[in-house]
Amino acid sequence: MGRVPYWNISYGIGIDLLAVPLIIIFLYGLYGHWKRIKQGKARLTFSLRNSSLKIGPVYIGALFTKGILGSRIYKKLFTGVAHGFLFWGMFLLSIGTALVFLNVLFGLPVFKGAFNRWFMSFALDAGGLAALSGTLFLLIRRLAFPPEGLVAPKARPGFVLMEVAITVIILTGFLLEALRIAHNGFDEGAFVGNWVAGLLGGGDSLSLHQIVWWGHGFVALAFIAYIPYSPLIHLVLAPINTSLAIPVPGPKMGVLDFSAFEDEEAEELPSLGVCKLTDFSRKRLLDFSSCLWCGRCHEVCPAAQTGKSLSPKGVIVTLSEYMNKDKFQDDSLLDEISANAIYSCTTCAACMEVCPVSVNQPKAIMRMRQHLLMERSEIPDIMGQAHKSLEARQHPFFGTGSGPNDWRKDMDIPSFEEGKTEYLLWIGCAITYEERTQKIARSMVNILQKAGVSFGVLEESRCTGDPAKQMGNEFLFSEIAQQNIEEFTSLGIKKIITMCPHCYNSFTRHYPPLGGLFKVVPHSVFINSLIKSGRLELRNGEQTICYHDPCYLGRRNNIFAEPRNVVASLGRLIEMPRNRENSFCCGGGGGNYWAEEEGTRINQARAKEALDTGAVKIATACPFCLLMLTDGLKKYADVEKAYDIAELVNNQLKDG
Ligand code: SF4
Ligand code: SF4
Repeated sequence: MGRVPYWNISYGIGIDLLAVPLIIIFLYGLYGHWKRIKQGKARLTFSLRNSSLKIGPVYIGALFTKGILGSRIYKKLFTGVAHGFLFWGMFLLSIGTALVFLNVLFGLPVFKGAFNRWFMSFALDAGGLAALSGTLFLLIRRLAFPPEGLVAPKARPGFVLMEVAITVIILTGFLLEALRIAHNGFDEGAFVGNWVAGLLGGGDSLSLHQIVWWGHGFVALAFIAYIPYSPLIHLVLAPINTSLAIPVPGPKMGVLDFSAFEDEEAEELPSLGVCKLTDFSRKRLLDFSSCLWCGRCHEVCPAAQTGKSLSPKGVIVTLSEYMNKDKFQDDSLLDEISANAIYSCTTCAACMEVCPVSVNQPKAIMRMRQHLLMERSEIPDIMGQAHKSLEARQHPFFGTGSGPNDWRKDMDIPSFEEGKTEYLLWIGCAITYEERTQKIARSMVNILQKAGVSFGVLEESRCTGDPAKQMGNEFLFSEIAQQNIEEFTSLGIKKIITMCPHCYNSFTRHYPPLGGLFKVVPHSVFINSLIKSGRLELRNGEQTICYHDPCYLGRRNNIFAEPRNVVASLGRLIEMPRNRENSFCCGGGGGNYWAEEEGTRINQARAKEALDTGAVKIATACPFCLLMLTDGLKKYADVEKAYDIAELVNNQLKDG
């Protein structure tokens, strides 16, 4: 006998009628989320370039790849495959259920011929089996072997209930199919139903079928209605969140719009950072609502992994709990998260790189840090001294023994001349004021001279203002940046070579909104192009070199290949276990170069990882990374092992 909808069921229409109030409950739950999210700021008033309309192929691409296909989920293979089985299995079952409704309402012939055999029977059985195995894997893992991030700092309640509900729905679905087959005979294609029917072994099962049918229908509808009130709301919010995430690597921090403070008629001034939920943008509140509490961010965070009080998951979870409790105006938020945690963030962006739903954790943390510094003048002691130095001397290296021009002592280096010089070689504060890193600039000058590049330097080295931004002082950053922009413009500077990725990041991301539009190239990229074009000739060595990716060059600006090419032309490149976009921070970002660390020192953890590769030398392309690694290595080695790639290239120049 062919399949008949509502077979053996009287008043089956009752389940359709029950669906109506339960769908209303579902929609009401969604509305509750929107009501909470819309309490955030509708426009990014903090940014000079408001871009609230997120359309275009990149966003649509993100919706499909990260949102719907969940591409980031698969970064953890087993969990990813289990999620894939569960999601796509349930997706198939939902289509099957919708087709049954269309059959009931409009007579769509879904229970006939090959379609019935291959889709309604075989594919739906396969989908059910996939969803069941995915759910059981996740449930057992959650209860018996939870990974660190899932339970630290706390586990999310509610997932177990939903996973048990899915298991019940699928098992009762298979039982229903088997009871039908046991009564009506073999169903070609329904391989699971046929097998279970065989296990049941015949007998009158009509009343059991009716009980299971109503139970299955009620649990399934209740499950759907409960989704917006459960952790499974991510099924709806995650695709939206990922498709609205700004498609550039790393967090994109806006710059302060001074004009808003000059407008005497302005009703509301931009908030200086964030101390309560309503200060966040709607996008951030969507972030907090979408968080799965999966803890992948916690597992890669250098602060969390070395015993600091910061856990990016912990921060986002606290924010989402405040939202769920409607504590939108509650400014106890920062104390609950703690200034210590907020300042421990190195802004390395490892957390957002792994987040399956594209939450921007560093941006939320930085917005709170801005409030701590600009509104409360709250900053850890050592970082505070660096900040004072920035305010007084426009560079953060307090107590330095170097003057602004010491790095070029005894060297004949041209100053930038308008109309004559092509590139400004930007030195930056980390190279100017630390003796160890001054060698990077001297090496770079030699390289550029050898290659015959037209370049010059400023009369006196300066800072981009990036450390002020990292510490949370947007005013100071804008002030320093605007002075630089004015000087560059008056000198006719159009092209800049940087040796510090923080400077590169500032020039390319934070200067343009302030009017500073320059062509900027990091020294690793520039050196690579000189080698490729034959303008630099190197002696190739046999040495093994491992390369540490600076966060602001790699993860934040997608520059992975060029520095590796340079290293590969000097010797044999060795990778650390955590490399490229999964690289581990040196610990110096976010102003934490000037920090007294709690727990294990991040630079020591990274130095150990580099040493364990057995490489003879450790290369990097950032003065802060070089300083941090050099210091971290002191715990394990007596000899100098860490170098900037400019130093390594300079040492291996032919006739150098
Ligand atoms: S940006 Fe880096 S340090 Fe900050 S929370 Fe994320 S992973 Fe941790
Ligand atoms: S922020 Fe992202 S990675 Fe972190 S717990 Fe939430 S969903 Fe997971």
